[in-house]
Amino acid sequence: MTTTQSTSGAQVCPRCKRRRLVPSLSLYAGDKPVRLFFVLQAADPSGQPDPARRVMGSSPLVAGVCGACGHVELEAQEPDKVWAALVQAEG
Ligand SMILES: [Zn+2]
Repeated sequence: MTTTQSTSGAQVCPRCKRRRLVPSLSLYAGDKPVRLFFVLQAADPSGQPDPARRVMGSSPLVAGVCGACGHVELEAQEPDKVWAALVQAEG
């Protein structure tokens, strides 16, 4: 997996507290952007997973990487799509 930086400006790392977190690195596997693929399945009234209430979706992922301690955090670039899938599954 390789990364490219799309923004500048270091942030404070949540682990080591140093201002070395390089944010919003685009992730690639080979030459393909990395995406989060997910399946949300709401439960029926008895609490069992309900296949009729299953929604799939995806979002590009970006990473913040600390240049001091190596901490990595991932972020979905399209969080609205993840939320919309939950609302649809539970609807
Ligand atoms: Zn750190």
